[in-house]
Amino acid sequence: MRLELLKNVTRIVVKLGTGVLTDSCKQPDLGQMKQLVDQIAAQRKEGREVVLVTSGAVGAGMGALGFEKRPAELAEMQACAAVGQSRLMATYEKLFARHKLNVAQVLLTHDDLEHHDRHLNARNTLVTLLSHGVIPIINENDAVSSTELKFGDNDKLSALVASLLPADLLVILTTVDGVIENFGKKSAKTLSVIERVDAAVEKMAGGTESVTAVGGMKSKIEAAKIVIRSGIPLVIASGKKKGMLSRITKGEDEGTLFIPKATKLQGRKRWIAFFHHPKGVLVVDAGAKKALREDGKSLLPPGVVRCDGDFQADEVVRICDSDGTEFARGIARFGGDQVRGGALARVEIVHRDDLVIL
Ligand code: GLU
Repeated sequence: MRLELLKNVTRIVVKLGTGVLTDSCKQPDLGQMKQLVDQIAAQRKEGREVVLVTSGAVGAGMGALGFEKRPAELAEMQACAAVGQSRLMATYEKLFARHKLNVAQVLLTHDDLEHHDRHLNARNTLVTLLSHGVIPIINENDAVSSTELKFGDNDKLSALVASLLPADLLVILTTVDGVIENFGKKSAKTLSVIERVDAAVEKMAGGTESVTAVGGMKSKIEAAKIVIRSGIPLVIASGKKKGMLSRITKGEDEGTLFIPKATKLQGRKRWIAFFHHPKGVLVVDAGAKKALREDGKSLLPPGVVRCDGDFQADEVVRICDSDGTEFARGIARFGGDQVRGGALARVEIVHRDDLVIL
C-alpha cells in the first residue's frame, strides 16, 4: 500500500524540526544539517521538487543571544528568531551549494495565506522557484508575526504549505521514529500506518517538554488532519537517520504513514477549510447537519440554532453541531448581526459552493 501511495510522488514538502537541526548547545548542528541537506539533494537528483519548511531560527538565535530557555516575552523571542534565521539560512546556502543547488528564503505570516490574492501570489512564487530548480526554504516570519495571529507552529505551517501548492507528500522529520503507541512503556511501538485520526490516535499524542521546540506530537496530529483532508499523504519519521527520505519515497516501512482521504479538495475549498482564523460560529441542528454532510445542501436559516461571534458577510465561519463539534467551514453570505437579527427568509446563509465538510 505504501508503494502504491508514494511511487508517483514528484513534489515533496519536508519539514525539519528544531530538535533535528540544533545540538545540545542550541547551535545549528552542522553534521546533522549536512546529512539532511544531502538527503534533500538526492531527492532533487531523482527528479523530485522539494520545498523545505525549517524550524530552528529561535533555537539558533537563543544560542547566539545567550538564552537557556525559549524566552517567554514575545519581543525577546522575535529577536532570537531574527538573529537565528539569518544564521540558519547562511548554513543552508553553504550546504546546498555543495550540490550546486540554489535556495530561496521565504518567510510567511498567516495573513499572507489567508487573503485569497496573497494566497495565490505566494503559491505562484513557490511554483516559479521550483520551476527554476530552486529549493524554497520556508519559515514563519517570527520577527513580525504576533501570538494570536500566528500559524502556531511549523508542523501546521508545513501542512498549510503542502495544501497550498499542493504537494504529493508531506514528510515531517523529527526526533522520534513516528507516532508511538504506549510511549514510555515496554510495549512501546511505532505505528506503521494510520488510516483515520480518531480519538485513540489523538490520545497517543502528547505535547513537548523541549526547551527549544514548540509542538510535539500533538501539533503533528493537527497537521495530519489538514493534509489528509486535502488528499495528501503524510509520513512522520526520524530525521536522525541517514537516507530516510529515499527509503520513504521507495515505499519502505519507515515512520508513520497517514493515509489521505480519497476525495481531494480543490484549491478554493482547501483555502476555505484551512487558511482562516474564523471569528464566527454557526451552531446547527441535527437535520441541517445531515443535509450539509450527507445531501450536499446549502445552509438555510431554519437550521441555525445559534450564531456566535462578530463576523462580517463573506468571512469564513465554523459550523458546529449542538455538541460544539466543528464539522464544516464555509463563507457566510451575511454578517453575524444579520443572522442573529432573524429577518433572513429562505436564503442560503452558507452556499454549498462555499462550504467544506471537514
Ligand atoms: N518558527 C520557529 C523557529 O524557527 C519554529 C516554530 C516550530 O518549530 O514550530 O524557531
